[in-house]
Amino acid sequence: AGALDVTAVRADFPILTESVNGEPLVYLDSAATSQKPRVVLDAERAFLEHENAAVHRGAHTLAAEATESFEDARAAVARFVGAGPESIVWTSGATSALNLVAYAIGNASIAGGPLALTRGDEIVVTEAEHHANLIPWQQLAARTGATLRHIPVHDDGTLDLVTAADLIGERTRIVAFPHVSNVLGIVNPVADLVALARSAGALTVLDACQSAPHLPLDLPALGVDLAAFSGHKMLGPYGIGALYGRGEVLDALPPVLTGGSMVTTVTLDAAEFLPAPQKFEAGTQPVSQAIGLAAAVRYLDHLGMQNVHERERVLEKRLRDGVRSIPGIRLLGDTDVADRVALCAFDVDGVHAHDVGQVLDARGIAVRVGHHCAQPLHRRFDMTATVRASASVFTTEAEIDTFLDALSGVRAFFGVRR
Ligand code: PMP
Repeated sequence: AGALDVTAVRADFPILTESVNGEPLVYLDSAATSQKPRVVLDAERAFLEHENAAVHRGAHTLAAEATESFEDARAAVARFVGAGPESIVWTSGATSALNLVAYAIGNASIAGGPLALTRGDEIVVTEAEHHANLIPWQQLAARTGATLRHIPVHDDGTLDLVTAADLIGERTRIVAFPHVSNVLGIVNPVADLVALARSAGALTVLDACQSAPHLPLDLPALGVDLAAFSGHKMLGPYGIGALYGRGEVLDALPPVLTGGSMVTTVTLDAAEFLPAPQKFEAGTQPVSQAIGLAAAVRYLDHLGMQNVHERERVLEKRLRDGVRSIPGIRLLGDTDVADRVALCAFDVDGVHAHDVGQVLDARGIAVRVGHHCAQPLHRRFDMTATVRASASVFTTEAEIDTFLDALSGVRAFFGVRR
């Protein structure tokens, strides 16, 4: 596969023909949720129209077909992240995947055993966490008496690895961090953090929400123990995501939700559980959504993730250079030392982020404003809210230029002169 054909890609996304406020939609909010190509919509619909039945149950033909499609979807999503199907647990999204891990370790802490946390144990996160990879650890720490510590972020948005090396030690049991921050767009040094965690004997948990849609991802090669990603951010449906886990780690984690479909023998007093991934998938799963997500990763594979990454690097450079050249704008994580995805968040001096968002919206441009579920990171930079623009496979140079043109007029519009 060669370079990305953006015109062809755009034709795959039905929503791109929409107008907003009389202007063609310029969708620069893919980091919040991605748009969906027709193949994803078609896959869900085709399944529901032709194959829908309860999976892993029933002896009838339709149920067997549904089960096969569902398990094919797991295999496709697993392959996309370089893993085997047994290491992919379906969840409703990244938030539920990360909570699943934290609650499972909480259960292990009650039962005792190698994964149990006790008072004095430490959980290490970063200052650049999405709340979904922070609050579950706060809650787990509170339940077990463990202490939560954090790796600070430098002024340029990169992680302070010197402090990380000091912080991660004998008492560290878990190191949780984002592959790519949803505010900074910087690709974090996974190998360095995994090496630190390994030498301390700590479990690594990667939040891969913002990397999975944008760069080639090989979770076993990265060496993390557990990872979470979300369907709706990677051209797939809502209500589906996954927890990836290394075999031994998933085996050692106790289940959280219990009930049907995750058991072998059940008596009135006790139950025996199926092996992973089934032991984490109690109840009816989001089957059509899983099939939609498989269509999304097949679509991304067809584009080629290296092509996607290279294309988005071009867009990223245009976006960040353009934003940086507008007077009165302060970018978060403005560094060239690291690899990046096409996302940037910034403050416009003298204008509230929500007002910036409104001016852009009047021209059909969709961006995200607020703290992007990363309040500690915003506090780190003395901000409460920023504007975030994020691109995708269908974003054009012309769209970036339209955004930059609108953005360059914002301060004058609000009468800010400084
Ligand atoms: N982590 C990061 C870095 C994210 O960007 C998001 C989505 N905002 C999440 C976690 C949570 O994902 P979801 O809302 O799909 O569960």
